[in-house]
Amino acid sequence: MARALRLLSRTVVRLRPLPVQGPTRGFSASVQEPFHVCVVGSGPAGFYTADRMLKGHEGAQVDIIDRLPTPFGLVRSGVAPDHPETKIVVNQFSRVAANGRCSFFGNVTLGRDVSLSELRETYHAVVLAYGAESDRSLGIPGEDLKGIHSAREFVWWYNGHPDMCDLSPDLKNTQSAVVLGQGNVALDVARILLRCKTELATTDIADYALDALCGSTIRKVYLVGRRGPVQAACTAKELREILGLKNVRVCIKEADLATSPADEEEMRSSRIQRRVYELLSKAASAHRDNSCNDQKELHFVFFRRPTRFTPSENGSTVGAVELEKTALKVDEVTRKQVAVGTGEFEDLKCGLVLKSIGYKSLPVQGLPFDKIRGVVPNLRGRVMSSESETATVETGLYVVGWLKRGPTGIVATNLHCAEETVASILEDDRKGVLRAPSDSKKHGRTGLVEILEQKNVHFVPFSGWEKIDSKEKMAGQLRNKPREKITTWDGLQKAANE
Ligand code: NAP
Repeated sequence: MARALRLLSRTVVRLRPLPVQGPTRGFSASVQEPFHVCVVGSGPAGFYTADRMLKGHEGAQVDIIDRLPTPFGLVRSGVAPDHPETKIVVNQFSRVAANGRCSFFGNVTLGRDVSLSELRETYHAVVLAYGAESDRSLGIPGEDLKGIHSAREFVWWYNGHPDMCDLSPDLKNTQSAVVLGQGNVALDVARILLRCKTELATTDIADYALDALCGSTIRKVYLVGRRGPVQAACTAKELREILGLKNVRVCIKEADLATSPADEEEMRSSRIQRRVYELLSKAASAHRDNSCNDQKELHFVFFRRPTRFTPSENGSTVGAVELEKTALKVDEVTRKQVAVGTGEFEDLKCGLVLKSIGYKSLPVQGLPFDKIRGVVPNLRGRVMSSESETATVETGLYVVGWLKRGPTGIVATNLHCAEETVASILEDDRKGVLRAPSDSKKHGRTGLVEILEQKNVHFVPFSGWEKIDSKEKMAGQLRNKPREKITTWDGLQKAANE
């Protein structure tokens, strides 16, 4: 135990009572006891929660656990390699991890290495911030054919996530890729397929992905939306970026740009939608220089929904996506325009399909979960026993990020989300809900270390991640990249232990 505790961050494991001031004044439990908080998941939602918790409660000791040996969640494995500016936030997260009252436990999986009930017994508050690590499915025939991947898998692959380093998408036997969905993730994957490889070479993209993309034969990427250009789910900045890619001809059918009174109404109430529509309209009519032989094509396909995948001649690989033409109809309940099939079908030939229709969260044992919405039922971050009106609060259990509100929003959205959840925790603590004066079972960090030792789990502390980090950065320097990511479980663990 002592050795394990020494391993933790470069940290002072402070178990002495801390002075209590400011926002924590008036909490009910004895000030002699630290307030033990465990955050599960070290992405933006997890780190913002830890930050706000440490700032809001001087007695708080915050442990962040993550199933990966590396911290930062989607900032490392979701944000596109050609968006380095979005990754700068890790500097702020690293300062949080360096706080003497914060510890990182990488390589620890909730539900396998430690159960939710064990965490709840060990900590005064448990905050689930493990996001959405699965995918929505279309539920149409042929979805299992080779050559069809979720965008999440493809993103994890090019970002060197150790679970997806062996994906090996076949980029060599086709000229056409179809991306289903028109959100920002769809734009990310389309952009990575189309972007000039010399531009990618100086990013932190995984080396095997860069090699595969350099050898890619894909010339045409189709971005398929079931609704129209007014409803495209992407945002203007990301759209502008893809529309401006070097050597890429953008193809948009003028007829798809016709708007209905309902579309006009939507654009009046959403500046983002109006801006996206304007950018698409401008791109449709823009004169493009066709002089370059190496030109690729980006096709925006609107009003089409996928109905099945058909195999190529070899039988097991995707050869086409069958699309049904759609029309928009106002839903009577939500008052939103939804796509309805017209009964008219067409095939779009391709050898690669990336389904970018949204991420999905997964429950763990003992956690109330709304399977339809894919979120944990909660009231301002407090986990509720169910969605029903008679639901009760799960004392000491909280949720934040995509698991709380569904898979939407940018990195910064998680700051407000974390502030709301932390406010609930602080309020509950002030009211004396979380700490009974006689409660001696909540050992926090020492309790977690004990559980992990009993189960022979070798966790990676923040100092282990720092070893990975410096090794990656050194390897990157040799290739003029910000880092060369270590992409296997073994490699990461070895680097953390060196
Ligand atoms: P998203 O924005 O929700 O987009 C999902 C897309 O899938 C929409 O076009 C949606 O169409 C479509 N779709 C859903 N179900 C479908 C179905 N059954 N059949 C056909 N199409 C379907 O999700 P996302 O792209 O995964 O992005 C997740 C979040 O991360 C978003 O908030 C995004 O802005 C954010 N993000 C931001 C950045 C950035 O800032 N650079 C980068 C990546 C991600 P409908 O609209 O018709 O439902």
